[in-house]
Amino acid sequence: MKKFENVRILKGIGGLYHVDTPSSVYFCRPKGLFRLENISPLVGDFVNIEITHEPDKEGVITDIVPRKNELVRPRVANVDQAIIVFSVKNPKPNFDLLDRLTVLASRHNLEAVLVFNKCDLGSVNAEIYEKIGYKIILTSVETGQGIDELKEALDGKVSVFCGNSGVGKSSLINAILGETIQETGMVSGKGSGKHTTRASFLIKSENSFLVDAPGFSSLKLDFPKEELKDYFVEFQKFGNCKFLDCKHLNEPNCEVKKHIDEIRYERYKSLYEELK
Ligand code: GDP
Ligand code: ZN
Repeated sequence: MKKFENVRILKGIGGLYHVDTPSSVYFCRPKGLFRLENISPLVGDFVNIEITHEPDKEGVITDIVPRKNELVRPRVANVDQAIIVFSVKNPKPNFDLLDRLTVLASRHNLEAVLVFNKCDLGSVNAEIYEKIGYKIILTSVETGQGIDELKEALDGKVSVFCGNSGVGKSSLINAILGETIQETGMVSGKGSGKHTTRASFLIKSENSFLVDAPGFSSLKLDFPKEELKDYFVEFQKFGNCKFLDCKHLNEPNCEVKKHIDEIRYERYKSLYEELK
């Protein structure tokens, strides 16, 4: 029987999974045992499949490779990095949302790349984030600025695009896909009606896989407040606070408090309060 190992699920619709193999996409159902074990495959999963009907490209998923990570919104497994998109204008950057997204990326072990789009309309001061060490890419879908740099950052990785609505995520994804564009309507979710929940899927572009996250304008964090300090990546550089379990709030001789950027520190305190 023809088999493929370690191949990736691109999409799942009604229990039928589209699996990307070197020869073609196969439409696979999970083997019955998964249901008994209460396991269901996820978009982004690496799986082993057996082909049951070659002419119709049908197969069965026999194994799911353990996941590196698993996002909830969008529901996708094995994501490498978050592409956090803002526009410099219309709408202007929401740094509160940006900090929340960097926290979430860090919590899920994702690299974060900050993209500021619509650079044809203005500029942005992202020095703080550059200092922290985030990769920053300035783009414009209008002029083509930064698109090649963004493509390079995506190469060989699974990237989830997030950011609030209207910043140009769909436009950027379309620009990246260029002529190889697939399922245009679905990339942006436009025309699908406001209240329909979209299933997540991976968009393949050469060596890269992209996922469009649902747009949002605010984001509530929900995890134990003690963890927050671990997700401000720059805090890790200053590990010599007087107290080992320093929360970097009111403790004396806090190294973090001394060194980190004031705006980020204020954000840390307010997010900490919010998590209480
Ligand atoms: P999304 O909601 O994040 O997917 O944003 P869209 O891709 O739908 O873009 C929202 C609006 O911004 C559309 O009218 C786009 O034409 C416009 N837009 C996207 N990228 C740029 C850009 O780089 N420059 C300018 N001036 N407009 C842009
Ligand atoms: Zn401290």
